[in-house]
Amino acid sequence: TAAKTAAEKAEVKTYFETTGFDRWKRIYSDSEDVNKVQRNIRIGHQKTVDNVLVWLQEQGNLQQRSFCDAGCGVGSLTLPLAQLGAGSISASDLSAAMVQEAERRAAETGVKPGQISFLASDLESLRGRYDTVICLDVFIHYPQAPAEEMVRHLASMAERHLIVSFAPYTPLLALLKGIGQLFPGPSKTTRAYTLREDGIVAAAAKAGFKPMRRSLNKAPFYFSRLIAFERG
Ligand code: SAM
Repeated sequence: TAAKTAAEKAEVKTYFETTGFDRWKRIYSDSEDVNKVQRNIRIGHQKTVDNVLVWLQEQGNLQQRSFCDAGCGVGSLTLPLAQLGAGSISASDLSAAMVQEAERRAAETGVKPGQISFLASDLESLRGRYDTVICLDVFIHYPQAPAEEMVRHLASMAERHLIVSFAPYTPLLALLKGIGQLFPGPSKTTRAYTLREDGIVAAAAKAGFKPMRRSLNKAPFYFSRLIAFERG
């Protein structure tokens, strides 16, 4: 229900501004201060990010394109994308702490001022039109129906490309209890949802997007389906 969803979102926000912030900023860094599970999540997540960067470069014309990195975290995608010369990037996250850390890292990296605009915002409140909208490993916080609705919303903001990743539902994974441990699941403190891929693809199709490329990025404790859609 809507009320339950709102309460869960508030929980996710609090988590990513406190203990989750500390945990994830370490996972998404080269800090030695991580355990084995966290190290594996880092490795798996890096595969997803690298995969996206390769696809974007193959699509080409980065300088002329505008990007929306929705749920940007600490900027794991946004920063290298800026360094590759992306025209403009709007990077936003529900957690103000995550956005602030992304901004700090951008300054440290010496990204051109103005190339990235940072915003603390949930996905629902995002507006505007971008050449490409990207949302990586955020849908873990969304049940199936809200995730599909979010795909339609993000698609409405995308002129040409939409790239999303999520933990795919598989009967095998469903068998394993404690699924929250299996992916960028923020830990046992918030719920982790796996999603049916056909539903995600159907939602994108309704918004006029068809899947062009897919990959499955894996490491122990990380499992993420990545899909690049194109309008038309
Ligand atoms: N996309 C980033 C990446 O791949 O590096 C971060 C992934 S991290 C596992 C999930 C992020 O989603 C967190 O930074 C969290 O604050 C953010 N998030 C969760 N729910 C959100 C929502 N409703 N709107 C925007 N961001 C959200």
